[in-house]
Amino acid sequence: MFLGHFAVAFAAKRAVPEVSLGTLFLAAQLADLVWPTLVLLGFEHFAIRPGITAVTPLEFIRYPYSHSLLGMAAWGALLGIAYLVLRRKAGAAFLLFLVVLSHWLLDFVTHRPDLRLVIAGSEPYGLGLWHSRIGTLLVEGLIFAVGVWIYVRATRPLDRIGRLALIALVAFLVLIYLGSVFGPPPPSISAVVWNAQAVWLLVACGYWIDAHRGSGLRPRIMIGS
Ligand SMILES: [Zn+2]
Repeated sequence: MFLGHFAVAFAAKRAVPEVSLGTLFLAAQLADLVWPTLVLLGFEHFAIRPGITAVTPLEFIRYPYSHSLLGMAAWGALLGIAYLVLRRKAGAAFLLFLVVLSHWLLDFVTHRPDLRLVIAGSEPYGLGLWHSRIGTLLVEGLIFAVGVWIYVRATRPLDRIGRLALIALVAFLVLIYLGSVFGPPPPSISAVVWNAQAVWLLVACGYWIDAHRGSGLRPRIMIGS
């Protein structure tokens, strides 16, 4: 899943307006952000097998540190604790932990059974929505639309960047998603890994856009005061 993780981040802004969209992107995509580095270091492995699912040609052979439920809980705890230390907001820190965990649940829906609960020795899980291209596009498209809509309602642009950069980011996410679903399989392992590293730029983009948007709640006019 790709767009669905961003959708969770967009939607979470409503619950924690004080947390930047960049931090929420970081949380929702933390598993996919650490994954390419773990692959480069040789801790995790995947292969390119065109046709293995209708949506992605990637076979995730071993990725327990980034993509087991326990692994994600550890990354989530790390991010939550870091946020708590830096910002001293326990509620927001706990929500970030949950957003990191949401990655497992969404991947569970789309992946082939390749997600584990713990690091070693557990059964792999996955509902395999990726075997249906139309099903994946519908589910992920709908979740994404709802997430963006919630973010747009919960915030408002402070200037032109706040409006235009958000539109550009949403369009860009949809385009690269459609490109990956309908485009040719990636040419090599290293192409996949470096493309995945580029998601860090989207996190930076989240911080930039969020700095140009304020709370969407309009000040209430007090009658009789
Ligand atoms: Zn993932």
